[in-house]
Amino acid sequence: MAARVVILGAGHGGLRCANALAPRLARRGAVTVVARENYFLYYPFLRDLVAGAADLTEVAFPLREVLDPRVRLVVGDLARVDAQGREARVRLPDGEERALRYDHLVIALGSSTAYHGVPGARESAVAFKSVDDALALRLRVLDALESEESGGRLSPDVVVAGGSYAGLEVAGALHDLLRRAHRVYGPALRARPPVIHVVEGERRLLGGMPDPIPEYVQALLRRRGDDVALGERVAAVEPGGARLQGGRLIPAAATVWVAGVEASPAVNALPFQRGKEGRLRVDPMLRVEEGVWALGDCADARVGGKEAPMTAQHAEAEAESVASNLVRALLGRPLLPYHHRTRGLIVPLGEGLGVAQVGRDRALLGRSAGLLWRAFHLSRLPGASRKARYVAGWMTGAPRQRALIRAPAFTFRASSRPPS
Ligand SMILES: Cc1cc2nc3c(=O)[nH]c(=O)nc-3n(C[C@H](O)[C@H](O)[C@H](O)COP(=O)(O)OP(=O)(O)OC[C@H]3O[C@@H](n4cnc5c(N)ncnc54)[C@H](O)[C@@H]3O)c2cc1C
Repeated sequence: MAARVVILGAGHGGLRCANALAPRLARRGAVTVVARENYFLYYPFLRDLVAGAADLTEVAFPLREVLDPRVRLVVGDLARVDAQGREARVRLPDGEERALRYDHLVIALGSSTAYHGVPGARESAVAFKSVDDALALRLRVLDALESEESGGRLSPDVVVAGGSYAGLEVAGALHDLLRRAHRVYGPALRARPPVIHVVEGERRLLGGMPDPIPEYVQALLRRRGDDVALGERVAAVEPGGARLQGGRLIPAAATVWVAGVEASPAVNALPFQRGKEGRLRVDPMLRVEEGVWALGDCADARVGGKEAPMTAQHAEAEAESVASNLVRALLGRPLLPYHHRTRGLIVPLGEGLGVAQVGRDRALLGRSAGLLWRAFHLSRLPGASRKARYVAGWMTGAPRQRALIRAPAFTFRASSRPPS
C-alpha cells in the first residue's frame, strides 16, 4: 500500500522535506503538507521588509509555486494529533475541521517568541517572526517619525530587547530605515537623530560568535550613535517604551522583542515527549517514535553530541535527513543518524555591512560579509525571474525609493493577528 506522509508546517524545514520526499515517493506514497499560511516566509529577508528594502513578493513565496506539484497542500491550523488513530486534524480557514490519516507524520512547526513573563512584553512589544511583525514595526517607526516632524510626542527611538543575531539584524534594518529618513525629513529629526537601544542580558553581543565579531559590532553600533546596554534586561514593556531592570525608562516608538524562542502552543499540545525548552524529544535519526519524525526549531535534535542550533541551515539539513530516513524506513533499510557540519552564520548590520562566522572560527567583518550575505541569499531565491527582479531592483535604487512609503501595500494585514 502507498504510504501517506503528512508534514505539519511549511517553513524552512517542512518545505524542504516535502520537496525532497515527493520525487522519491512518486509511486510509493503521497505527501500532504499542512501550513497555516499559503506562503513560505524567507526569514533572512524579513529585515529587508522592516527597512522597506523589499516588498512582500521578495520575502514571501506562494507555496503552490514553490512546492513540488506532486505535494498536496492543506492551508489551515493544526487542531490536534491523535497518535493512536494516526490522524492529524486541521482547522480550515472556513472553520471546518479536516481529518488527515497518516502512516508517517513529520512535525516541522517551528518555534514561538518567548516573553519569559516580562510584564507588558507580549501585549506591547513587537516580535520579529512574521510578515505582520515586520510591517507593524515599520508602521510604528514611520508614525513616530511623522509625529516628531509635526511636534508630536511620540519618540522615534527603538528598543531592541536581545543582542543575538536576530536582534542585530533588526537593529541594522532599523538603522537603514532611519538613515534614509534622516536624509529627507526636516530639522526636528536632523537636530536629534533617533537612537536604537540594543539591550542584552549577557556582557557581550552575539554570544557564541568568535572574536573579534562581538567587539566589531559593538564599536559599529556605538559609532552610529546607538546605545548598547550590556548586562541589562528589559524588565517591563509599555506602549510608550521599555523599562530596564535598573529602573531606567527608555521612551520608544517600539520595543522589538528578540530575547528568546520557545516551543509554539501547537507543539505544546502534541501528545509526544518533550526535551529542552519544550521541544520534541528525538532520537539520533530524528524519530519521535515509530512513524513520527520531528525537525527544525521544534525538535530537540543533537549533532555531534551537542544541541543542533535553531537555524534555517540546520532545519533544512534535518529535513533532508528525515526525507531519506523515511524512504529507508519504507524500503526496510537501516536508518542513518543526522549529521551536519555548520557552515557558519552571516549577520547583516545595515549600510551593506555585516559580520560572518565561516566554519568554526573564521571571521569576516564589514562590507565583505555584507556582500556575502546578499549574494548567498540572492542565490537562494526561488526562480530565475525573482533573482533577476531582485538584482534589477537594487541596481535601479527601488529599495531606497520605497523605504519611507507608509502605503497600503506595506500595511497589508499588519497587526491583524496576535504576535506569534
Ligand atoms: C528574522 C529571522 C531571521 C533569521 N535569519 C536566519 C539566517 O540568516 N540563517 C539561518 O540559518 N537561520 C535564520 N533564522 C532562523 C530560521 O529561520 C529558523 O531556524 C528556521 O525557520 C526553522 O525552520 P522550521 O521549519 O523549524 O520553522 P519555520 O521556518 O518557522 O516553519 C514553521 C512552519 O510551521 C507553520 N505552523 C506553525 N504553527 C502551525 C499550526 N498550528 N498549524 C499549521 N502550521 C503551523 C508556520 O506557519 C511555518 O510555516 C532566522 C529567523 C528569524 C525569525
